[in-house]
Amino acid sequence: MKLTTVGYWGAYAEKNEATSCYLVEEEDTKILIDCGSGALSKLQNYIELTELDAVFISHIHTDHIADIYSLEFAMLIQTQLKNRKKPLDVYIYAENLETLSFAYPDIVHVKKINLEDSIQIGPFTLSFMENIHEIPCCSIKVSNQQGTVMVYSADTGYNERFIDFCKEVNLLLIECSFFKAQKGFVKGHLSSGEVGEIISKANVEEAVLTHFPHFGQVDQLVEEVKAFCDKKIYRAKEGFSIKI
Ligand SMILES: [Zn+2]
Ligand SMILES: [Zn+2]
Repeated sequence: MKLTTVGYWGAYAEKNEATSCYLVEEEDTKILIDCGSGALSKLQNYIELTELDAVFISHIHTDHIADIYSLEFAMLIQTQLKNRKKPLDVYIYAENLETLSFAYPDIVHVKKINLEDSIQIGPFTLSFMENIHEIPCCSIKVSNQQGTVMVYSADTGYNERFIDFCKEVNLLLIECSFFKAQKGFVKGHLSSGEVGEIISKANVEEAVLTHFPHFGQVDQLVEEVKAFCDKKIYRAKEGFSIKI
């Protein structure tokens, strides 16, 4: 299983970059987790858009979903050009899918994520857990047939259920929206100290930090997380990928 951080900013994309978007691949299977602003352009550095097997959207805040509508247009045009032969399955965690702006139901099959159902895409099994966030938002677990497991936190406030959900996984991709001193500053997000505590309590093998703030130094976030745990900690950045 290979993870690539296509976009990793919270809220909005910094110059020439993208907000939350993560590519997970194994052999010929390619899935996208979140599709924030700027993501579609960046994604083409790594794969052809026509190669995507499915997309999973953790919640409908724009920094996680904005480019899904551009992706729908890309699929429409590539289907017309006969480069894409099948509809794209897009799984979304939201209360009501009717309010979303999809326009081509034959091109993109939009489906609701049900927390109690797991989903199989090629070698991957995906399962889900409700987060603490302003709107419905879920964390996502991706497992392969060899038993390798990755968890993506999406956006969440601190909660013990999440620690159980990511217990001893091979890789935790976790939001780190605030510095340690800002703990509790905004409900529904994690500070670096809380991230370190989760990594330590869940005893994950390694972690990738993402969903960064637009102030302060990301390196400081990494150092603050490391002070709470003795695990391998990476930061998401342009072109970062890791084999699990
Ligand atoms: Zn976000
Ligand atoms: Zn959010």
